Amino acid sequence: MITREELRQLAQLDLPENSAVTFYFQPQTPQNKSHREEQIQVKDLVREALRRAEKNGNNPSVRADLKRILELAERLHGNHARGKGIFACSAKGIWREIDLPKRLKRTQLYVANRFHLRPLAAVAASAPRCCVALVDRERARLFELWLDEVREQAEIASPLPRTGRTDGFAGYDAGHNERHVENQAMKHFKNVSQRLQEMHNARGCDSFILGCRDDVWPQLEPHLHTYVKQKLLGRFGIDPAVATADQVREQAQRILEERNASEREALIREVVGSAQRNGRGKIGLRGVLEALEQGEVQTLLFGEAFYASGSECSNCGHLEASLPDVCPACGQSMRALEDVTDAVLRRALDANVGVVYIGPNPEFEKTGKIGALLRFRADQAKSGKIAG
Ligand SMILES: [Zn+2]
Repeated sequence: MITREELRQLAQLDLPENSAVTFYFQPQTPQNKSHREEQIQVKDLVREALRRAEKNGNNPSVRADLKRILELAERLHGNHARGKGIFACSAKGIWREIDLPKRLKRTQLYVANRFHLRPLAAVAASAPRCCVALVDRERARLFELWLDEVREQAEIASPLPRTGRTDGFAGYDAGHNERHVENQAMKHFKNVSQRLQEMHNARGCDSFILGCRDDVWPQLEPHLHTYVKQKLLGRFGIDPAVATADQVREQAQRILEERNASEREALIREVVGSAQRNGRGKIGLRGVLEALEQGEVQTLLFGEAFYASGSECSNCGHLEASLPDVCPACGQSMRALEDVTDAVLRRALDANVGVVYIGPNPEFEKTGKIGALLRFRADQAKSGKIAG
């Protein structure tokens, strides 16, 4: 698992030139490719990377890291459930392996000045951490969902007192018993709600999804804390007593996907719409870079189709969409970047800016493939205008 904080740390590392080795492994299903072919593919990538590294001067750190990746690839057996990301720079004693869901585009290997984080950011940015609670009148099962992984975290049991003829008190104040049972159930629902809030605080769950039988929902809903209601993404019908983890994942992911898709749509509409009105949106690399430097960006939107060359100042880190002779900010020399995405992501993570990954989306691609929602506009704030 990868947290935003880890991502930020990887982005911030200052590494010696051409010694950051990044490897992404996307397992193939056996129908597509045999394990052998998979290994040959990795070997080819490593050989090619070695060849290029030699051209850039012999670098023992890179050689060692590539060799280790090759060894690791030989141990990876076919038909893996998970992908992998490796971030290595033995010159600095760094070797970080991260298990990833099988959502990478392909197996890739890079040697550069810094780690290639785009695929990792794409995976992490499109997946909030979410708590799923299955609830019935006397039990609750709490799951954590992140990416493709669902884990049962806790169980709450508040058994109801048994009532009815079998308890030997036939006829004894049945009404009293019923009220007692109702009170117990109500306490249980409140307790569950409390635990959800605790999970948010302790484990950083961004949102909640509930699963329960349809007849339980009207009893449960009134007892949810306001906070839980606000962060509730949806509910699905299920019997908690017999539900499997796979069923939970399937249902919760469906709700999450729907929710994410509609949030992304709304964000794109807002950014594209207000960029045209000169408001809180910026579209296109030039505008986004400016806004990042001004500290205006609240959320960065980067599209799947976004690739652009640019340049970076070797002295102050200033980014440009073009390649000027000298840095407009400090006058030092600029370094060409084949793809500026990693540099832009690093800037965004440094500034604690939200990053949203936009998958295939014709509307967004038509307008510029990269965009930003701004907190404010520096120019308009100065002149006292309110951005809209
Ligand atoms: Zn500069």
